[in-house]
Amino acid sequence: MYVKGRISMNNTNQKKKLTTAFGIPVADDQNSLTAGKRGPVLVQDVHLLEKLGHFDRERIPERVVHAKGAGAGGYFEVTADVTKYTKAKFLSEIGKRTEVFARFSTVGGEKGSADAERDPRGFALKFYTEEGNYDLVGNNTPVFFIRDPLKFPDFIHTQKRNPANNCKDPNMFWDFLSLTPESIHQVTILFSDRGIPASFRNMNGYSSHTYKWYNEKGEYFWVQYHFKTDQGIKNLTRQEAEVMRSKDPDHATRDLYDAIERGDYPSWTLQMQIMTPEQAKDYRFDILDITKVWPHADFPSIEIGKLVLNRNPENYFAEVEQAAFGPQNFVPGIAASPDKMLQGRLFSYHDTHIHRLGPNYHLLPVNAPKNATDNSYQRDGSMRTDPNGGGGPNYWPNSFNGPEPDISAKEPPIEISGQADRHQYTHPNDDFVQPGNLYRDVMTDQDRENLAGNIIGHLGGAQKRIQLRQTALFFKADPDYGNRVAKGLKLDAKEVEKLADMSHDERAKATS
Ligand code: NDP
Repeated sequence: MYVKGRISMNNTNQKKKLTTAFGIPVADDQNSLTAGKRGPVLVQDVHLLEKLGHFDRERIPERVVHAKGAGAGGYFEVTADVTKYTKAKFLSEIGKRTEVFARFSTVGGEKGSADAERDPRGFALKFYTEEGNYDLVGNNTPVFFIRDPLKFPDFIHTQKRNPANNCKDPNMFWDFLSLTPESIHQVTILFSDRGIPASFRNMNGYSSHTYKWYNEKGEYFWVQYHFKTDQGIKNLTRQEAEVMRSKDPDHATRDLYDAIERGDYPSWTLQMQIMTPEQAKDYRFDILDITKVWPHADFPSIEIGKLVLNRNPENYFAEVEQAAFGPQNFVPGIAASPDKMLQGRLFSYHDTHIHRLGPNYHLLPVNAPKNATDNSYQRDGSMRTDPNGGGGPNYWPNSFNGPEPDISAKEPPIEISGQADRHQYTHPNDDFVQPGNLYRDVMTDQDRENLAGNIIGHLGGAQKRIQLRQTALFFKADPDYGNRVAKGLKLDAKEVEKLADMSHDERAKATS
């Protein structure tokens, strides 16, 4: 689709002269240098060689997940006093604003895939605070499919392409999910109409993980972030999404850009759920388990701020493609929790950015701190574009007045006990409680009908034994849920119920 007016016009009377990348004037950019009128091209045409050579290297590796995305700049403003929970300076005063860059994305598809796919949406934020960059890398869903990072590469493989024919494969997708019962909560949200937001502006953002906040006194709290869209939740039905995918595969990217261009700035209200370590200790399930939400009745949300996006990127590659968000970037007052999925991400994001952008990706303008300075002792590496620490010391400790650690940035310790082992999360039988509550108590009958229809259309492409195994999980969440799906797939309801009554291992064996 052609869109007018996106390339900025040089409105000055003075036209710049074309140069090579090294600033050397170019006399002709249309005709290669040849030996005679009809002879071959000369290697001496260094402008041609430079131009082709750079073009050959234009593509950087796309993100292994979240490859397709859109981004925008804006600010975060504090609207409530949260100093009793966190000493983060950017959250220290009502009315305080911090510059932000946001990126929204789909997860499984490639960089050219359609925005209207059924997929979680990434909701990544970079806050340029005076204490360094704080990244909060969330999703539009409050839970996740798995709760141990060991399973992540396998899970993602099943969302990608079949290794033999390079096509998306419902067998891979549902085989893994039906053998991973902890996924049922996220599967239920993904296949509800929220699984295809109408735009990035019309969805919420959640930290999904539990994080740790701590105050000046060294007291700490477990927290979860909920960015509620001020535009209202709007979704596409599966039929609308099917049309949209072919009509405009970039519809959500375009929608975000156009809204900001016309001054219709999208915003989100940040609500926090906060609990003390004592509340967490005795709670009825492990609050670190990312497949579960914290029920609002037990942990009501408090409103603390506003996120506003009011600036489009000048250049997509520079700002959006090169943006690198990492959940390991905390500022004093905010820290990781022992949530295992988060722990895995603390490694993986930085690691993948080094692969994708190089070891000095933190120097790229979109990633560099804007309101703090980089005073590290890290040096050298490819594409070091800053003065590299100049002549200052490149080791610590030193007696040349180099930057020194700041004890006030220390986070309070948490108590850990037990044996080093490969432990499972506790309460695995609770996996079906929250998706069941969602199905029974939150969804309307129309939502339930759409949920079942969305599942049937997709799961129907998998082998029957996999359909049976997955439908048994829906039955375990709620019998009506399982029966609706069974009916749509023409499965024997009695067989589904029998499988639902089995243990996980028995069910896997019976459907192998
Ligand atoms: P509440 O009634 O207080 O909360 C229900 C929440 O459900 C609402 O906050 C809303 O989220 C969300 N919701 C509404 N429709 C859908 C949908 N189609 N798909 C996914 N979420 C939807 O009850 P509880 O806090 O006890 O939660 C009940 C169930 O709601 C949970 O088991 C979980 O499945 C789901 N849920 C809970 C959230 C939480 O943090 N407690 C957050 C999101 C979902 P929102 O206001 O964020 O739009």
